[in-house]
Amino acid sequence: DYRARSAYKLIEIDNKYNFLKRKSAIVDLGACPGAWSQVASQRIGTSQLSNDELVTWNHGMVLAVDKEVMRGLPGVFVIDRADITSSETLKRIYSFLSQRKVDAVISDMAPNATGMHKLDHERIMELANTAFQVAQNCLKTNGTFLCKIFQGSLLNGFKHELKTSFESVQEIRCQSTRKESTEMYLLAQQYKED
Ligand code: SAM
Repeated sequence: DYRARSAYKLIEIDNKYNFLKRKSAIVDLGACPGAWSQVASQRIGTSQLSNDELVTWNHGMVLAVDKEVMRGLPGVFVIDRADITSSETLKRIYSFLSQRKVDAVISDMAPNATGMHKLDHERIMELANTAFQVAQNCLKTNGTFLCKIFQGSLLNGFKHELKTSFESVQEIRCQSTRKESTEMYLLAQQYKED
């Protein structure tokens, strides 16, 4: 059982694009309650490992980060009560990784919705920008960045920025997303190191 229905969005995206490969290392931003991390750890193959096997990263790695308290999950490292917009959180992530690079940074982070479209859009784009910074610091060459956004005026500029760092950038709308919703994901693939 998944902790949230959001699991099915990641399943839908990965069934098509296949970036959650066995043994890969994944950073999951805005991971709480943990459904994406569940999907990721199942697909890369860490969900059945003992702690001794996990620490080596030999069988892959999932790091879940969220500003809320997150219940632990088998095969997943958790950094919680950690706001991604604070430098303290970035330090915790980078010190956990200690120079090792990852195959994918995935972000389902979203601000608490105010219902004011422009404000919600601006806030999620700020989170997306921070997620992109994390990706730039952590991704291996050819790595993948997946991130949630709400459509709006800042989207094209952000896509343009992504295109300078990745070979391909695509917009994805999930089947389960309501027609009237502006929610979308950007999938940026094949990270080029600057
Ligand atoms: N992908 C998750 C899952 O499948 O269980 C659901 C993620 S939920 C849609 C968005 C999450 O983003 C929330 O748990 C929220 O706490 C987190 N979030 C929002 N702003 C954040 C921030 N500044 N730093 C860290 N996490 C944040």
